[in-house]
Amino acid sequence: MNMMFVGDPHGSYQHIITAVQEMTDTGAGCEVRRRAMNRELTEKLYHDFPELYRSRNKPITVSLMCFGFECGDGWFQLLYDLSTDLMRISTEAAIEPPEVVQVKEKFGCLRYYVDGGNDDTEHRIDQAEAASEHICEVCGQAGEIRSGGWIQTLCEEHRRPHS
Ligand SMILES: [Zn+2]
Repeated sequence: MNMMFVGDPHGSYQHIITAVQEMTDTGAGCEVRRRAMNRELTEKLYHDFPELYRSRNKPITVSLMCFGFECGDGWFQLLYDLSTDLMRISTEAAIEPPEVVQVKEKFGCLRYYVDGGNDDTEHRIDQAEAASEHICEVCGQAGEIRSGGWIQTLCEEHRRPHS
């Protein structure tokens, strides 16, 4: 049973207001909200893994990386470790690193889309996507998928919408 809104009237309304604001900000009516990792962490990933994220300046018709990392800051380390491993796998297999074309959160889980790579690449991505279901998207601590209003993976502290 979900207790998210019980005894938390401010949280309840703030949740709705935030969702509407995000919808308005992005014009994304169907997806409700468009989350984004902060600029500093985004630049860190781009800087340290330029080959993986080489499509970041390509037009939207080619790659959705122009939106950056469409998830919370809490998944930064998960993405950093994944990126490190994808580069290592490519080096070991002597293949061109995969080109990441979209990174987003959907239904509380990481979605990481690439062009290229090999079976090991796919396996490592699957692993990271599964791991994201247990990592708070806000702070990176242990979390679990919460379904209340929207579905998101959060720790106890961040399950409250106003925190
Ligand atoms: Zn948290």
